[in-house]
Amino acid sequence: MLIKHYAEGKFYTIRCPEGTMVVRNPVFRASGAPAPCDGIVVPFEGREVPIPAEPAGLLPLLAESRRCGLALVGEPEADVRLHGASCPACGEGDVNWLRAGDDSEMVHCDRCGADFAMPSPALIPIPDPKRQ
Ligand SMILES: [Zn+2]
Repeated sequence: MLIKHYAEGKFYTIRCPEGTMVVRNPVFRASGAPAPCDGIVVPFEGREVPIPAEPAGLLPLLAESRRCGLALVGEPEADVRLHGASCPACGEGDVNWLRAGDDSEMVHCDRCGADFAMPSPALIPIPDPKRQ
């Protein structure tokens, strides 16, 4: 089974072992997160291993190191906001080197260590809650 997971400005495709369940909003004791979050339950070595979707970097990390039977499939796909972005300091435009903060508008360049502002998205309307 394949899942798509968003972390740090990128979508990761992760292959999960057969029998993996996606669970919405349970409280994962292992996560340490203050609020319930989505996650997956992976059958691994005769046990069911719960893996929270937060922090967002956890699943890609586990998949990259092939823990719990997880595996990364292909290259991560950049968030639309990272399409065409490149580091103003070193010119790096490969999204594997560029990391967007979860809540921030900043992008971190892993290659040279520079932080720069997320390029403005092309006209994505955002509903204004005050105008309702
Ligand atoms: Zn750079």
